[in-house]
Amino acid sequence: MLTGDRPTGRLHVGHYVGSLRRRVELQNTGEFDDIFIMIADAQALTDNADNPEKVRSNIIEVALDYLACGLDPEKSTLFIQSQIPQLCELSFYYMNLVTVSRLQRNPTVKTEIKMRNFETSIPVGFFTYPISQAADITAFKATTVPVGEDQMPMIEQTKEIVHKFNSVYGDTLIDPKILLPENQACLRLPGIDGKAKMSKSLGNVVDPFVLGERYGVDALRYEIMREMPFNGDSTFVAEQFLQRINTDLANNLGNLVSRSVSMVKKYFNGTLPAERETAAVDEELAKLAASLPASVEQKMDSLHFSDALADIFELISRANKYIDETTPWALAKDESQKTRLATVLYNLLESIRISSIMLEPFMPQTMPEIWKRIGAEAEETSWESIHQFGGLKADTTVGEGAPLFPRINIEKELEELASVA
Ligand code: ATP
Ligand code: MG
Repeated sequence: MLTGDRPTGRLHVGHYVGSLRRRVELQNTGEFDDIFIMIADAQALTDNADNPEKVRSNIIEVALDYLACGLDPEKSTLFIQSQIPQLCELSFYYMNLVTVSRLQRNPTVKTEIKMRNFETSIPVGFFTYPISQAADITAFKATTVPVGEDQMPMIEQTKEIVHKFNSVYGDTLIDPKILLPENQACLRLPGIDGKAKMSKSLGNVVDPFVLGERYGVDALRYEIMREMPFNGDSTFVAEQFLQRINTDLANNLGNLVSRSVSMVKKYFNGTLPAERETAAVDEELAKLAASLPASVEQKMDSLHFSDALADIFELISRANKYIDETTPWALAKDESQKTRLATVLYNLLESIRISSIMLEPFMPQTMPEIWKRIGAEAEETSWESIHQFGGLKADTTVGEGAPLFPRINIEKELEELASVA
């Protein structure tokens, strides 16, 4: 078996469903004596001759994607096309077995020429890459080539070369069989721009690396867990992701932390006094916080992560509302209300502590930062500690820091995202 990919970018979900997953399955069934997986760098150069660095640097990216998906070098031979110069030699001879007009009729070549806007300036190397693909497949005596539907005309072309070669020189080459994905939708996964095929070269892909680098992996993980239930289909929409960062993470959670912490700093120099004076309004908040762990645990256990997150954010919203109800800035003006003010601020920090512990599995980078801000020690951040309201030490000292989730200018970001894709 032989198949491969062009190192023109990181692999995407189209590759996974179209070919990668199948390869890993076939590798593990053990039904093939030899499995060759080729990183087609020479072929990638046929339309990237002005950018060899892109091809060179993506060889390692593609190799890493292979390993991540489960291709095992013990069972499959992973290799780089340009390291086997005999493939060029073979292509050179095969060129005599194919006509220019036949190549011009190759539907994949036709579509790709249009897609790349080559018009009249088609590089000869690009035009003839179906021939080099025939060399790759036949050199390794491949019987089976698991690829996406876009490759069908390429395999056809290879078969024709094989037949021609065998009829002129005697039975030598093996006639390969294409192995298409079983799932109809995976034959050719469309791009996010609605174009017929998701492709590295078109950039019509959701790239989690770009999103993680720009907005943080915690925000991305939050969006995925919040938006994509395990029991159904879901879509990723960049605008909705950015909106959610602004509403849930920046306005709701981020604001609660920064308002609460800055009030402790402003009114108590950063350290809360230990005395308390409770009021009726505290009860509802404490009750909600106390009821949350059982409900969140039940949802986590049944893999309803999105519902668990909705529960946790209910407490965060409730705490923000509690600020408006208790108006700490008004309490601060009255010296006799100091103890009451400390109680209100403590309840806020405690709500933050409880919600952040429950959020930690979703956002493991940001939550420890929140714990520093509210002065929570290690033993005050255990899962067990959330079952009771009041686990944060009474005289906690808050810490400083930049906004956890800076607000995003959505319009501007969408434009920039489109240009980096
Ligand atoms: P490029 O734009 O550089 O051609 P590509 O995204 O088309 O990149 P290739 O390296 O040409 O990727 O293709 C590698 C393998 O992945 C082939 O088997 C191809 O059929 C399959 N494949 C690529 N894109 C898709 C897709 N959108 N749906 C299904 N299979 C795909
Ligand atoms: Mg391609």
